[in-house]
Amino acid sequence: MRRFLPLLILLASALLIGCFSESGEASGDSVVLQTRLFAMDTVVDLTVVAPDEATARRAIDEAARTIQSIQTWGSADDPASETARINAVAEGYSGSVSEDLAATLRIALDIAAVSNGAFDPTIRPLVELWNFSGESSVVPPAEELAELLPLVDYRQVELVGDKLISPAGYRLDLGAVAKGYIVDQALLTMRSNGATAGLVSAGGDVAGFGERPTGGAWVIGIQHPRLPEQLFGALPLNNAAVATSGDYERYFELDGVRYHHLLDPATGSPARGLTSVTVLAPTCAEADAWATAVFVLGLEAGLALLEEQPELEGLLLYEIEGQLQQLMTAGFSDEMELIE
Ligand code: AMP
Ligand code: MG
Repeated sequence: MRRFLPLLILLASALLIGCFSESGEASGDSVVLQTRLFAMDTVVDLTVVAPDEATARRAIDEAARTIQSIQTWGSADDPASETARINAVAEGYSGSVSEDLAATLRIALDIAAVSNGAFDPTIRPLVELWNFSGESSVVPPAEELAELLPLVDYRQVELVGDKLISPAGYRLDLGAVAKGYIVDQALLTMRSNGATAGLVSAGGDVAGFGERPTGGAWVIGIQHPRLPEQLFGALPLNNAAVATSGDYERYFELDGVRYHHLLDPATGSPARGLTSVTVLAPTCAEADAWATAVFVLGLEAGLALLEEQPELEGLLLYEIEGQLQQLMTAGFSDEMELIE
């Protein structure tokens, strides 16, 4: 842990910068700029390292613009977004979609197939019924859930190139993958604008490239699922991405039961068994989607699917009688430093 401590302090102090604020510092031959914005319902922190101030500023400004662009296509909750407009076509949608939406949906449909539908981008009707983003704390009646289950089936949606066919009643929700996708896009934007290294952190989704200004890999903290002020572990990021899905992000409690936003398409209700899942992957879109998919699959099936895929590593946390338990892939335990 000792070797990561200075960086964790650096990350923690970065988090203290106010909304939309910016800070910069010169480090050796490079300039480091940081900025924070609010997008995708969460705080997004961007850091760029570049050879000079003008390059750093352009790279961070363009990356911030990329992050904001998700609002135009990916936020199903925003009626003006492309996703919401597609969902609003009562007779079903048939037509072309934007490059970003197509790319995100392609990843989502692939992971839906590999996870056997535990991950499903047509989950929207259930998301609307539970309405976790609307501060609802009502458990929907079983009949209403049962009625909607046939409308959650990724196999009914067809995407060929940029042409989407989505039958009547089916509605898209890319909330479990779009944030990761846009983090990847922001890093690409930084690179193409001359940054030599960069880090983007959006809620539980983090990805970086290059080395941190003082040398060595970026290091990120994994949130403790039950102690919000505390980190569970620290993980170095070598041109990779990490995402966490947890039952603590959006939830309400009723009669001692926690109802959270990660829904099992098989039952229509919150997936049971795990507390949080962290996935390490080559891209943040994959990390994001797999964290949600593994959460829904549960301990055994989720871990088995991670172990089958050499490019993925993961940490699964769960509770037994209030005690936090952990299981992880071998690659994850090699990398992570537990924070006591
Ligand atoms: P994340 O925080 O990345 O795990 O994403 C959670 C969001 O993904 C939820 O707020 C829903 O919009 C959506 N979602 C919930 N359950 C699923 C599921 N089984 N498959 C795909 N998306 C889901
Ligand atoms: Mg996700």
